[in-house]
Amino acid sequence: MDNKRIYLSLSQQSGFELEYVEKALETNWITSGGPNVNAFESILENFLADEPFVTALNSGTSAIHLALILLGVKYGDEVICQSMTFSASANPILYQGAIPVFVDSEPDTWNICPDQLEIAIKERIKKGKKPKAIITVHLYGNPYKIDEIHAVADRYEIPIIEDAAEALGSSYKKKKCGTFGDLGILSFNGNKIITTSSGGALISKSDKLKQKAIFYATQSKDEAAHYQHSEIGYNYRMSNICAGIGLGQIKTLEDAITKRRNNHLFYKDVFEKIKDVALFEVLNENYFSTYWLNTILIEPDSEKNRNQKSLRLAFEGANIESRPLWKPMHLQPVFKKYPYYGKKVAESLFERGLCLPSGSNLTSEDKKRIKEVIVNFFK
Ligand SMILES: *Cc1c(COP(=O)(O)O)cnc(C)c1O
Repeated sequence: MDNKRIYLSLSQQSGFELEYVEKALETNWITSGGPNVNAFESILENFLADEPFVTALNSGTSAIHLALILLGVKYGDEVICQSMTFSASANPILYQGAIPVFVDSEPDTWNICPDQLEIAIKERIKKGKKPKAIITVHLYGNPYKIDEIHAVADRYEIPIIEDAAEALGSSYKKKKCGTFGDLGILSFNGNKIITTSSGGALISKSDKLKQKAIFYATQSKDEAAHYQHSEIGYNYRMSNICAGIGLGQIKTLEDAITKRRNNHLFYKDVFEKIKDVALFEVLNENYFSTYWLNTILIEPDSEKNRNQKSLRLAFEGANIESRPLWKPMHLQPVFKKYPYYGKKVAESLFERGLCLPSGSNLTSEDKKRIKEVIVNFFK
């Protein structure tokens, strides 16, 4: 048996990418924007349904940055952000010179807690500043408590930026993730469910916002023969070559979703009889997750030296990648000084949780090796 490394989530080629990339080269569309970009946007718009407008960009991070700009977030404004997430959800708040206010997770979806969100909003208003926006995240492909969170946001009339970077293909009550927020974002980074090598998208509710996003993403050029600028611009548009990769990738999105969900069934079977491990599962049938990454919580057992770290090292010993959950932003050195509202739910998840290999290209041989490590560890 060869011992090649098994990764958390690797890109998988569909085989259709090259024809679009070649076409771009042949037609000399080697630039940002172009026919592949337009085609990729319209396929995404159809996939998401609900008449969204999609602007393809060079990363998910730039999509969040543009979302903040479109909502008018400026220097000194406060923006609420789910604490348990990848740093890219929060960094753009600082690009704008705004102040992040972090909010804890709740234990059912591991995403932003509606009660703590409301406490945070009330407190910030009392201190004299109403938050300008709320950044919510569907961690690991798992939808957050959409109804509860959006009810709170609506009550205080604060717009939501929905970070669906990890949740393309997931849905809540049959509506696709990415279409719930006032603005939504996707990522096509190499580790996501489909990739453009690097890329992202902004999802908005009007063509006007879509065009404004393109305007900012292409250096804010005013209508004029010369280059005229009355606003700050950014170089954030998706490249036509990358969009070609995306066009090839998206043909197999449904297949990738099925494969990721099959990985979940595999883990469900493996962990069924292991009482110290809880595999993350969605709360009920309203939630449809791609299970972009499968995650578990391990009840530490000091006698047997079983905990998150020792399991990770056991995987490592078999050349299998696993990784702790996202370390909450309010615990990160770079964000420590910003306000946080919560009850240490995210902290406790972080201490006990582990992400497991979940790529759509996991083979049955890979699964055999993964299962062997788990069975031996909990023997
Ligand atoms: C990947 C990711 C992003 C950023 O996407 P990039 O395309 O890598 O810039 C943002 N938020 C979350 C939660 C992510 O996982």
